[in-house]
Amino acid sequence: MKKQTILVCVSHSDDQVIGMGSSIAKFASEGKDVIVVIFSYGAESVPWMKEKHIIETRVKESMKIDKFLGAKKTIFLGLSDKNMEEKIKKFKTEKKLELIISKYNPEKIFTHALDPHPNHRIVHKTVLKVLDSMKKNIPVYTFDIWKMFDTKEQKARIYIDITETFSKKIKAMMMFKSQMYFSIYPLLPSVYLKAFLNGVHIKTRYAEMFYKER
Ligand SMILES: [Zn+2]
Repeated sequence: MKKQTILVCVSHSDDQVIGMGSSIAKFASEGKDVIVVIFSYGAESVPWMKEKHIIETRVKESMKIDKFLGAKKTIFLGLSDKNMEEKIKKFKTEKKLELIISKYNPEKIFTHALDPHPNHRIVHKTVLKVLDSMKKNIPVYTFDIWKMFDTKEQKARIYIDITETFSKKIKAMMMFKSQMYFSIYPLLPSVYLKAFLNGVHIKTRYAEMFYKER
């Protein structure tokens, strides 16, 4: 039987871990190939570091962390966080994503929900646009990063029991030395709270929740 592939498309190198690190570890433990596609290096968020150094650090760090979670491959699309929409056009990012989807032919795609971060929204829209243009009918699930509390999102929800892999996600988050003060510490309480509340919802210890986008 062919190995099943899960494609995860995110804006920044830590989004996949914060948003669905436990599910990535779970998919990997079930023998699925998880491919992570990262749109942006997010370079300008560390004002005192040189850009090239930041990029190298982030690439190395997130490859190591994705591997730790069990992901098979991490692909960087190499955009910067500034004017992302423009850069997507300039660097033919949609075409690149199309080639990745064709190559790996994933059974499911996970990406950002429409959370408040503008580049998360751009990645969300780009993924759907590319799938539409390919006329590919692949199920898409989305997750929130910068949204602490539940909103009235009307989409259907799925919950993944992550009791076995939650501690691995926390370990992976703590490996993001470069992001510690920007996203890891600020988001850690909500990661615990969400995992707990989602767990209550399906009567397990911890769970991650996704919207069924299509
Ligand atoms: Zn992000």
